[in-house]
Amino acid sequence: MGSEHWIKQSNLPPRLAAAAEEALRLTAGRWETIDQIAFANQRRVLESFQAVRLGEEDFQDSSGYGYHDRGREKLESVFAGALQGETALVRPQIVSGTHALTVALFALLRPGELLLCLTGEPYDTLQSVIGSRGEEEGSLKEWGIGYRYLPCGPNGLPEPSALDPGLEPRVVYIQRSAGYSLHRLSLTEARLEELIGQARRVYPQAWVMVDNCYGEFVEYNEPTAVGADLIVGSLIKNPGGGLAPGGGYAVGREAMIHKVAARLTAPGLYGNLGAVAGKRSLFQGLFMAPSLVSNALKNAVFAAALFELLGYTVRPRYDAPRGDIVQAIILKSPAQVTRFCRAVQAASPVEAHVSPEPGSLPGYPDPVIMAAGTFFQGASGELSADAPLRDPYAVFLQGGLTLPHALWATCRAATALFQ
Ligand SMILES: *Cc1c(COP(=O)(O)O)cnc(C)c1O
Repeated sequence: MGSEHWIKQSNLPPRLAAAAEEALRLTAGRWETIDQIAFANQRRVLESFQAVRLGEEDFQDSSGYGYHDRGREKLESVFAGALQGETALVRPQIVSGTHALTVALFALLRPGELLLCLTGEPYDTLQSVIGSRGEEEGSLKEWGIGYRYLPCGPNGLPEPSALDPGLEPRVVYIQRSAGYSLHRLSLTEARLEELIGQARRVYPQAWVMVDNCYGEFVEYNEPTAVGADLIVGSLIKNPGGGLAPGGGYAVGREAMIHKVAARLTAPGLYGNLGAVAGKRSLFQGLFMAPSLVSNALKNAVFAAALFELLGYTVRPRYDAPRGDIVQAIILKSPAQVTRFCRAVQAASPVEAHVSPEPGSLPGYPDPVIMAAGTFFQGASGELSADAPLRDPYAVFLQGGLTLPHALWATCRAATALFQ
């Protein structure tokens, strides 16, 4: 890429232009690694497509009960192959990542059993699902399911000595992404493997479930390839490739997916029902996903370098290992967070004329401001920035359908902070 060229075209203030050029130089090595990972993941995805002998007829919509939907079955086989599990459930009837995780948790846990989270407190919306912040209608707590979490260190791992052998968890839960936490990093493949190994030694009877949101295709292997029984995620993040209009997935051992299917539809029906329209986009999105993830990662490391050069604390740093596509930039004031999000919104293809305001969102304890000028509402595989309005006022930047757009918007956000 002719770096001087696009940076000059961006009309950045001179100090920012210099920082952007320096950021590109600093991240060149990381970009190469990202390309190599994308190449490997693209090949695995491609081979999964070819293995099911995908044809035009498989794109046809099903209706009603959706019996004998061959395209849906092939979609699930392709996801299983691409995400390295035995089998998969991939459905538009799953409304979000939180829903997918909820279905999986209720599928695996029975009253009196214990859910043990190894990576600190889980993502904000999971708190209501668990019932860990008070009474919540229909929560795991209401069903008599126990919950504990182990605090984790900055590397995302708990102290090995914290894995109390006296506990008997039914499900050991690992969150790959750091979510809105600034106290830990996302889990890399190597650390995931280490953590799952430890958990297996201490809790040989437990099932290992991973919240894989934002993690798909970031590294060479998915958590399923390093010991997880079940991984769960959202189609409007990485694996939908920017083309899936919604939905969620679970991939993993056949016995686990059977339980998840029983909970999503009904015992006896399992995954045999469920009409799926718009399969072409789901297939094509998965095919595009390694490329979307590489765009998102390249912009994330660029943003990390740029904002660090501009004097901000960022997490992770540009040269740190990454297990997800999220870049946190600590802006220290609500005004700066708002400026950043408005600039990203104004640089978006959809609703660029709209100015985001902090507001309350279902499932989130603090007001959240979101820049999501996305083709699909709230799709954070597309370039987006969001921030819970709380100290130290970090903004979380992620996604990118195309690299030029992501870089452009990131530079606009940097410019906004200096105006
Ligand atoms: C996005 C996300 C979820 C689920 O969020 P939804 O908005 O419900 O899709 C869960 N965990 C993590 C780590 C996430 O990033």
